[in-house]
Amino acid sequence: MPSLTVNEARTRAASIAVTSYDVELDLTRGDQNFHSRTTIEFRSRDHQETFLDIAPAELSNVRLNKQPMDVAGLRDGRLALRDLQDDNVLEVEALMAYSHDGEGLHRAVDPEDGQAYLYAMAFLPAAARIFACFDQPDLKAPYRLTVRAPEEWLVLGNGAATQVEPGLWTLAETKPLSTYFVTLVAGPYHSVRSEHDGIPLGLHCRQSLAPHLDKDADELFTVTAACFDEYHRLFGIRYPFGEYHQAFVPEFNAGAMENPGCVTFSDELVFKAPATDHLRAIRAMVVAHEMAHQWFGDLVTMQWWDDLWLNESFAEYMGYRVTSQVTAFTDVQVEFALARKAWGMAADQRTSTHPVAGNGARDAKEALTNFDGISYTKGAASLRQLNAYIGDEAFLAGVVDHLHRHSYGNATLTDLVQSWERASGKNVPGWADAWLRTSGVDTLACHLRGNGQAVITRHNGSPGDVSRPHALTVTRYDADGGSASAPLRITESQTVVPLSVNDTSSFVLPDSADQTWAKITLDAQSTDRAPQMLRTISDPLARAVVWGALREALHDGALDPEAYLTTLEQALPTETDLAVDVVLGEAPYSGALGALGRYFPAPSHRDRLADLADAVLAAAQLGSNRQLIAVRAVIDLTRDAERLHGWLDGAAPTGVPVDADFRWRVLIALCAQGATGDADIEAETARDKSAEGALHALRCRASIPTAAAKGRVWESLTTDAALSNYELYALAERFFLPEQADITAEFVDRYFAEMPATVRIRTGELVQRTASLVYPRYAVSDATVALAERCLGQADLDTGVRRSVSDRTDDLRRVLSSRANFGG
Ligand SMILES: [Zn+2]
Repeated sequence: MPSLTVNEARTRAASIAVTSYDVELDLTRGDQNFHSRTTIEFRSRDHQETFLDIAPAELSNVRLNKQPMDVAGLRDGRLALRDLQDDNVLEVEALMAYSHDGEGLHRAVDPEDGQAYLYAMAFLPAAARIFACFDQPDLKAPYRLTVRAPEEWLVLGNGAATQVEPGLWTLAETKPLSTYFVTLVAGPYHSVRSEHDGIPLGLHCRQSLAPHLDKDADELFTVTAACFDEYHRLFGIRYPFGEYHQAFVPEFNAGAMENPGCVTFSDELVFKAPATDHLRAIRAMVVAHEMAHQWFGDLVTMQWWDDLWLNESFAEYMGYRVTSQVTAFTDVQVEFALARKAWGMAADQRTSTHPVAGNGARDAKEALTNFDGISYTKGAASLRQLNAYIGDEAFLAGVVDHLHRHSYGNATLTDLVQSWERASGKNVPGWADAWLRTSGVDTLACHLRGNGQAVITRHNGSPGDVSRPHALTVTRYDADGGSASAPLRITESQTVVPLSVNDTSSFVLPDSADQTWAKITLDAQSTDRAPQMLRTISDPLARAVVWGALREALHDGALDPEAYLTTLEQALPTETDLAVDVVLGEAPYSGALGALGRYFPAPSHRDRLADLADAVLAAAQLGSNRQLIAVRAVIDLTRDAERLHGWLDGAAPTGVPVDADFRWRVLIALCAQGATGDADIEAETARDKSAEGALHALRCRASIPTAAAKGRVWESLTTDAALSNYELYALAERFFLPEQADITAEFVDRYFAEMPATVRIRTGELVQRTASLVYPRYAVSDATVALAERCLGQADLDTGVRRSVSDRTDDLRRVLSSRANFGG
């Protein structure tokens, strides 16, 4: 299907205006298909030909102004519309296919009880897989939905749902919405309901997750209520979409989607296993993020996908700000500095880096590949910089002005910049040029001069000639535990720190409150002293900045991996639970476990990390959050298979809950070591018949280091079109593993030869994400880079595959440069 171009969207928006959609869906037509009947009323301004978007299994009937149309005219998901009048009525009937890739109307069956659960994800270009539409963000219209479903089902959507007769539901007419916000949640979902400040609230999940949702419902409602109060205070506009439902749905590709009135979340956020405080904080932040979108994104929507970053940057900024200020998760900004920022920093240092404000993508698909760590984290950090530049009052006044001016409509970055300019009287366009229309990371390095002065040197990271101003805090930490801070504005390449540094043993940290977007580099002396400082600095946010500086040095090939590990050994045991979880964890850009086989290739590296995890475990209180973090790290890191077998056989550490999640985690680790196999996987599957168990079994099978097992998994990855998105990800993430190089060597070539062709059996996000997850990241060699370059040389390479191969190869080059400098 061709991707909608910006020119096509502009032409269509100039030509027509949509008055309303009536959508009737019949979900009682079996497991494969549903019936979709759409009536669109729209005006034509110029009577010019335009086109409808629809991607049916079978298009049965189309009538334009009561005249039947030839359905054979459907090409590539588009149907040309001619002979338009001022006011038109288009009626479209089609049989649609349920999806299993997380886009369109997704249908998942919970193996635990055999019940089917549906949710609609209409994010571009999937709306046309559900109903006939003009699928672009700036053709907003009100929707009236009618849904026929099995009688025992619950139906939810953007408008309040009423069951008018058994199995027949009508949803209240919505405010004007973009096509990509239209959702539907249908199935025998379990619900918990509440109310806050006149807003009806609902939480929903699969029946098998009911006890786990019930357990956390108070926490979720408390966060939701606090966020509503805060957004009402900040924006001065009441929540505009009626009821507010938060549905936790199966096999959801993203963390959540901000559908007005009915946000869908991945039901991995309903915690079956004991959850760490870290995970709870992230969930609260996601709740706050999606709520921010109800105003910024939903009430006012970007005109074209190229400004999608603006939605995400704003929601990311607000999500972290509001979570830290009005919920119990006050340390979430530390999580941003430690973990979230690492994701964006990696993205901003690749060849695919782009300005926060997009890079002029010609079509929607290209625009959406830039929906990355830059759009979220760098965008959010940029907004913090704007806030520092114009002040919080003007920042919020500009946002309020923007929301009022464009309510229920669409707007652009230029519109928002004008609102901020009016509110502040400052040169916001100039700020936007420096921060939003440039790419790359500035570097801030601090040097001590002999005369008691410290100087911060800024190296501009943008490829263009840009001088980006930084507003930040600089702090001096003294050997005796004292400290002094000062605000600082950096506009030149050299800036004198307004703090005296007479003691050469002082440690001067730029951006100690993590306010800007810059790489902080420590000089040799400060790097040597980092372990000591990480034990003495009391502010966890400042320590996160130090961890970030060390992490970036490691990735730059400027810090010896052995020295990084030594710092971990010396400083992590005294860190907070959050820092232990992130810095030791499995995330590829922030965690040591995630760097195994790459920056830490040697068996001794794994052993050092395992010993560290064991030390944290031994010191942790029984049953504590910290014990949970540590025991999971030990499982993932230890090479002691006998000990892990013992943990399955009743000898697990006291205080650790031996539940299904624990058992599967151990089994996955044992499978990766070749220390167990099919019989144990089958026994565990018989014990745990849940959807989560089925996915863990796939992870186990993908981890087994034999040619036969890897061959079978490869076959599934490259040829099995029937796998659901989650099944595919489970196999993909466990295919290439550290320390299995010999057994998977042949698949390095085959990845580049065969993965691009999966675009023939899969579509959308699935293709790009699988290409990224499977990439042979542990085959760290020039030969892999050469294979990748040859692959990227193919002119017909899918856009999503190209982006994944390019990005993972850039990551590989950085590991190669670390190895060139330090061996390994
Ligand atoms: Zn978002």
